[in-house]
Amino acid sequence: MSKTIIVSNRLPIKIQKNNQELTYTPSAGGLATGLGSIYKEGNNIWLGWAGLHLTSEAEKNQVTEDLEKESLKPIFLSEEDVEGFYEGFSNATIWPSFHYFPQYAVYQDIFWESYQQVNQKFAEAILEVCEANDTVWIHDYQLLLVPQLIREKRPHISIGYFQHIPFPSYEIFRLLPWRRELLLGVLGADLVGFHTYDDMRHFLSSVNRLAGIGYFHGEVEMGNRKVVVDAFPMGIDYDKYAKKASSPDTINREVRYRSSLNNEKIILSIDRLDYSKGIKNRLQALEIFFEEYPEYLEKMVLFMVVVPSRDTVPRYQALKTEIDELVGRINGKYGRVSWTPVHYFYRSFPLEALSAFYRMANVALVTPLRDGMNLVCKEYIASRLDQTGVLILSEMAGSSKELSDAILINPNDIKQIVAALHQALTMPKDEQKFHMEIMQNSLKRYNIHHWVKLFLDRLTEVKEQQSYMH
Ligand code: UDP
Repeated sequence: MSKTIIVSNRLPIKIQKNNQELTYTPSAGGLATGLGSIYKEGNNIWLGWAGLHLTSEAEKNQVTEDLEKESLKPIFLSEEDVEGFYEGFSNATIWPSFHYFPQYAVYQDIFWESYQQVNQKFAEAILEVCEANDTVWIHDYQLLLVPQLIREKRPHISIGYFQHIPFPSYEIFRLLPWRRELLLGVLGADLVGFHTYDDMRHFLSSVNRLAGIGYFHGEVEMGNRKVVVDAFPMGIDYDKYAKKASSPDTINREVRYRSSLNNEKIILSIDRLDYSKGIKNRLQALEIFFEEYPEYLEKMVLFMVVVPSRDTVPRYQALKTEIDELVGRINGKYGRVSWTPVHYFYRSFPLEALSAFYRMANVALVTPLRDGMNLVCKEYIASRLDQTGVLILSEMAGSSKELSDAILINPNDIKQIVAALHQALTMPKDEQKFHMEIMQNSLKRYNIHHWVKLFLDRLTEVKEQQSYMH
């Protein structure tokens, strides 16, 4: 029986070691939910980095054995691997480059070496379990070389690659010293997916101009093999968020949170701490908003959740300091004894709390300078059970292509964000409902399960067409 092998940098489970005891907590991320119904079926399996550092072989064996029951196969990385491959090449070279921050990118051969080695390690782990008729679905920018590494050893196998972050314009991508190797790595796949049509076009243009390979209608000719490149915008588990928003736990939390407020309108923002998220722009806009519209003092608050992320990287530490200062300045300047303009939380929250925030928010303010998709804005929409609420969304988020009923803004245009805030706060309820309903209908239909099926069905189709070509 053939199987599907899912591969991502991290496994959909958090492994921890406390006082010699290993604990496992399933993660609730979008991908984990979407693929949950797939990787547990039949002989299917999910491969990824265990996410913790173990030195003893006995412990590694223990984890491998424990996870086998869950259809998971861990890959163990050394501390040097994590530094070079993950913190280095993935997060300090590819991440800034692909999010249009080439000035933050570091170009270091030792990081590149490590990236190649770890991609090889992943490929070996896949090859250990991979048989002739299997399908391998590789996820994201940490594993750009893996498709070709598998292809070399298993020329006829079905390989899909999906990238969850943007693919930058050729002008940015070509700055990378290892640009050609990265492209050829991805082209080992049969089907290459991105969130948006623009990402797809950027990829094809780089393939053409940097690897000298032609394409026609999204199909790249690789000798006797054809690689199909297309856009597959990822959805969310809509029902999960809608259901959570009506659960007693969420409603109780909302009552509790509201008891400390004075009926102010609530603007909500939720992001990981990252320079791509436009958190500073948002705060600058808020400061100007209070200047221009002082009638909103004491009448509205910003709930700002910033989830700690990559906090060992100096660039992220510096950003944290800047955000702390901006929040402090706004609260110092406009705050009153009985009112604080920015409620700032630097931590992560469980789903029930996020759901209560989504329920409470009159406006969701999502202002990334660049984002592959952005799921927070979709979760907000799914949680608006009474169909009120306004989404302000950056044009630079992949999701803006689907959510044209949001108030779309350019996050660099601070005046436009200020105007959007005013428009959102004064929008009549029937207009809010009109737009919200359209967005809800689209997200209900193009949910995460639909996305998984679309990608895998397309991969099967591509493979069938290829077999006619031989
Ligand atoms: N999230 C979470 N806990 C928090 C804040 C956010 O689990 O305290 C989740 C949120 O629900 C969303 C994800 O983190 O599913 C963020 O995804 P998004 O695509 O918006 O941004 P990313 O962090 O992947 O760049």
